[in-house]
Amino acid sequence: MPIRKTDLISLHGGHSGEFCCHGSDRLEDLVRAYVEQGFRRVGLTEHMPPVSDRFLYPDEIEAGLDAAALYRRFARYISTARVLQKKYSSRITIYVGFETETCRGYQEFVRKLLDEFRPDYIVGSVHHVDDTPFDYSPEDYTRAARQAGGIDELYCRYFDLQLEMINSLRPAVVGHLDLIRIHDPGYRDRLKRPEVESRVHRNLERIRRLDLIMDCDLRALDAQGEPYPCRSILLQARELGIAVVPGDDSHSVDTVGRNIKTGIKLLRELGFNTSWKVPL
Ligand SMILES: [Zn+2]
Ligand SMILES: [Zn+2]
Repeated sequence: MPIRKTDLISLHGGHSGEFCCHGSDRLEDLVRAYVEQGFRRVGLTEHMPPVSDRFLYPDEIEAGLDAAALYRRFARYISTARVLQKKYSSRITIYVGFETETCRGYQEFVRKLLDEFRPDYIVGSVHHVDDTPFDYSPEDYTRAARQAGGIDELYCRYFDLQLEMINSLRPAVVGHLDLIRIHDPGYRDRLKRPEVESRVHRNLERIRRLDLIMDCDLRALDAQGEPYPCRSILLQARELGIAVVPGDDSHSVDTVGRNIKTGIKLLRELGFNTSWKVPL
């Protein structure tokens, strides 16, 4: 079956250079790229600002930004996204969201952001294990694994934190479920270890119980040949009846719609239907 325009969707992405140090291009240029590619629905999910200066990334420090400046930039992001949502409403449905973190103090901080900025939805993600970032670079990954006491332990802590985040934030979309495999070439075997597998299954059951959407993050297709989450987890999600929706995790005009057709074909092959569940 050919891919129709109505199939094209991304519920996780739309990071831009305007509002994110590791992105590029203006947010409006990304929105235009989605329109040009024929997307009918897209979620903009900029990263939330850090809870405190302790959680600044090296590129943010280099840009001379601190937590207060990033908070102001985030406020500008939300208002810009709302303007774009209206401006392009006849051509594309835009959902204005943001992507969360799980650093110490995140629960209260995210609640404050939700109260103040009233997004359409949030993507619940884990990029830190016990306050140590793991996805930014292989060096960070090694450091996080050492802190956890090994890679197996890092996976276990990651999935425990993910469950805590799901329970406390109940995000409409759970982001890149197995991102913890990012710098681990042995991830297929590791995901089969009983202590890891049982945690993945437990989190999937929780997602099902809360009726949340699971992000199928297509960024990993380039590096690892399968999305986040990997095929074996997607199959379990399908068995449980979890709604899975693609996300391109775009960070620039160039990465808008990246792997979207491959991703949709894969989801169809695995037995998902493309009447995507949406956050609103
Ligand atoms: Zn990012
Ligand atoms: Zn992310």
